[in-house]
Amino acid sequence: MDQAKRVVVCGGGVIGVCTAYFLAEKGAAVTLVEKCEVACGASGKAGGFLALDWCDGGALEELARASFDLHRSLSEELDGPRAYGYRGLTTLSLTVTESESSGSSSGTSLLPSWVTGSVGSPEIIGTPETTAQVQPQLFSRTLIEKGVEKHGVKVEIAKLERLEVEEGCVGWVVLEGGRVLEADAVVLALGPWSSKLPLLSSLFRVYSIKAHSIVLEPREPNSITPHALFLSYYASNSKRGAALDPEVYPRPTGEVYICGMSKEEEVPDDPSGIRGNPVSIAMLKRVAKTLSNHLGEGEARVKAEQACFLPCTDDGVPVIGEVPGVKGCYVATGHSCWGILNGPATGAALAQLIIHGHSTIVDLKRFSPARFLQPTKA
Ligand SMILES: Cc1cc2nc3c(=O)[nH]c(=O)nc-3n(C[C@H](O)[C@H](O)[C@H](O)COP(=O)(O)OP(=O)(O)OC[C@H]3O[C@@H](n4cnc5c(N)ncnc54)[C@H](O)[C@@H]3O)c2cc1C
Repeated sequence: MDQAKRVVVCGGGVIGVCTAYFLAEKGAAVTLVEKCEVACGASGKAGGFLALDWCDGGALEELARASFDLHRSLSEELDGPRAYGYRGLTTLSLTVTESESSGSSSGTSLLPSWVTGSVGSPEIIGTPETTAQVQPQLFSRTLIEKGVEKHGVKVEIAKLERLEVEEGCVGWVVLEGGRVLEADAVVLALGPWSSKLPLLSSLFRVYSIKAHSIVLEPREPNSITPHALFLSYYASNSKRGAALDPEVYPRPTGEVYICGMSKEEEVPDDPSGIRGNPVSIAMLKRVAKTLSNHLGEGEARVKAEQACFLPCTDDGVPVIGEVPGVKGCYVATGHSCWGILNGPATGAALAQLIIHGHSTIVDLKRFSPARFLQPTKA
């Protein structure tokens, strides 16, 4: 590039942050516009679980594999003792049943010693080579800090109001209050808020699923080993056969993150006002107590009770690419439950597309927003 391409990235979740980082690394002059705080939504409240091959056989296979590898190389470059806690994990699936008497477990040789509840059918579904984790808020914030420090990314806390389009090309970005940013290219990485921008909602639907999580600080953090657990959870009052599917992720700090309890709901305008439903939060605490003596009331402090919104598309595939009819305007959203995993490859591929006109990291054709265009009738 003779002159740095000016790119405005709107949305400071993991997708916007990764895109800003890789664009700036390629020499673009990047401004990240975030209306609240970097990683204030799902990107700060997710589990941060990563899997090499769990998307194999589907549309996300190439993206997920490339992203898993990028997470590893980014961690070698950017992570450290006080950064974002990347590490490999052993991952198990198991059933947990609420019962009066705890401790009647089967397959105990596979179970970590801190799992003390009534559990069954444990199975190893990932090894430290194929499953890993990051603390997603710290990952997103480390990446943007490094982008600022090393590559001159500017961060603006402001709300994108609209885009001005001139003769089929992106013109400029209008912020709330009327301030204008000039740009050669714009990236819309608004997560579930993509549905609020008519430019996108007129082309495809992004709906949102609200999900809950808690973060616990056990009194004895050293007893919690790096095992991620995918549960089929049978509550004593659940309808016959109906299981919940909470996920449990111990973190290197000794904290234990537990999430689940999700349903489709409209995302509110203000990310800072999102609260969990008390019944869902109480259920996650019940899961913790049933699963482990180390995680019950009195044994673990509740550090966070929270909720956030997954961005989902009708075909279950993220939307990554240039918006049809608006040259220079790109979108990246709809990553559903795999946005932390797929953030790096999405950002790196989009940066290549914007700067070089095509991506070699991942073939983005499958993700193009053009797939939502109605075929014209002959
Ligand atoms: C409970 C839970 C657990 C999860 N666990 C995992 C996991 O273990 N592994 C995994 O890979 N994925 C996981 N996910 C999924 C992952 O969190 C999401 O896919 C990902 O965070 C989406 O990132 P995003 O950047 O698209 O959206 P978001 O994180 O929602 O970011 C969008 C950003 O845009 C900003 N914004 C919105 N409108 C505007 C505007 N007009 N102007 C400026 N800024 C604006 C918002 O403030 C927000 O910061 C989980 C999700 C949930 C809910």
